[in-house]
Amino acid sequence: MTIGEFELIRQYFASIYGHRRDVKLGIGDDAAVLSTPKDQHLVVTVDTLVQGIHFDENCAPENLAHKALAVNLSDLAAMGAEPAWVTLSLTIPETDVSWLSTFSESFAKQCQHYDVQLIGGDTCRGPLSITVQAMGFTPDGCALQRSNAKPGDLIYVTGTLGDAGAGLSLLNEQRTDYTRSEKVLIERLEKPTPRLEIGILLRTLANAAIDISDGLVQDIQHIIDSSELGAVIEVKDLPLSEEMLKNYNKKQAQSLAMTAGDDYELCFTVSPENQDKLERILATASCQVTQIGRITQSKGLQLKNSEGLDKNKLSGFDHFTSEKARELNIK
Ligand code: ADP
Ligand code: MG
Repeated sequence: MTIGEFELIRQYFASIYGHRRDVKLGIGDDAAVLSTPKDQHLVVTVDTLVQGIHFDENCAPENLAHKALAVNLSDLAAMGAEPAWVTLSLTIPETDVSWLSTFSESFAKQCQHYDVQLIGGDTCRGPLSITVQAMGFTPDGCALQRSNAKPGDLIYVTGTLGDAGAGLSLLNEQRTDYTRSEKVLIERLEKPTPRLEIGILLRTLANAAIDISDGLVQDIQHIIDSSELGAVIEVKDLPLSEEMLKNYNKKQAQSLAMTAGDDYELCFTVSPENQDKLERILATASCQVTQIGRITQSKGLQLKNSEGLDKNKLSGFDHFTSEKARELNIK
C-alpha cells in the first residue's frame, strides 16, 4: 500500500508527541514558531544517516529512528544542553506504510522519553536517508566546549567503550543467532543512549567535553587540537563491559575501546580541584564515569600501557593531526 506525501506527514509525523508549551506552532504550516527561554542559549546540531554508509539495508526501522534521534541528542549532551525540539528530514525510496509506521512509532517513543517535540521536517523520495536536527538550551555561558581543556585536567569517560564497535563486527558475521551478551553489544551499536543527564551535570564541573562518535583516540584528539594541548591515556584504565570481555580478549577489547566509533559516550576533562565534587555528584548518576588519563601541556597523544595491541591500528596516533582525523572521518 502506498500513500501521498501530505497524508504520510499527517498520519505518521504530525501527531507525534506534541505537548511542549514552548511550541507555539508545530507541524503543518510553512515553519514552526517557538518560544525561547530568557537567559538561555539555543544549542543546535544536525546529523544525517545514509543507507549504505551509516547503516545497511537490513537495519530495522525501529533502530534507525532510535539512532537518528540518539546521535543528535548525544551532541546536545556533549554541549551540556537540555533538548527541546527536533526536525526530521526523511528521504525514502517508497511509501512503505509498515516501515513508516514502525519508524514513526519508535521516533515518537524516544521523543516522549526525552520530552522532545518534533516540530517540522521535510519528506522526499530518493535513496533512504534520515536527517535529524536537534535543538536545546543551556544557561548563558554554560555550554561545554571542546576547546576549553586545561593542562593537568583529568580525562573521564562515561559508560564503557568499544561495545558498539564489537557489535558492528558481530553484525558483520551475519549469523542468524546471537548469544545474549552478543545481542547487548549489537544493541549498543543500534540503539545508543545519549548521556543527557550527565551532560547537564557537567555544565559547572567540566572544562571540555565531546561525545565519542568516531572512537576515543580520534575524538580526544579534537579536544587536544582545539585546546592546543596534549593528553596521556592509560589504556589499562579504559572501562570495558562484561559483555565485551565475554566475547573478546583484553587486548582486542582495549583496541576496540580506543578506535571503534558509535559508542556515544561522553569524554570530558575536569580540573583536579573538581574531582571530589564530580565523583560525589556523579555517584548517583545513571551510568558510571571512569578516569582514563590527563591533559598535558606538551602536545600529542600518548597511549600508556598499549603494549601488545594491534600496532597497525595504533601506529601514528601520537602524531594524529586533525587533518588526518578528518580524512579518517569519511566513512
Ligand atoms: P513546505 O513545502 O512549505 O516546506 P511541506 O509540505 O514540506 O512544507 O511540509 C508541510 C509541513 O509538514 C511542515 O510543517 C513541515 O515542517 C512538516 N513536515 C514535512 N515532512 C515532515 C517530516 N518528515 N516530519 C515532520 N514534519 C514534517
Ligand atoms: Mg511552504
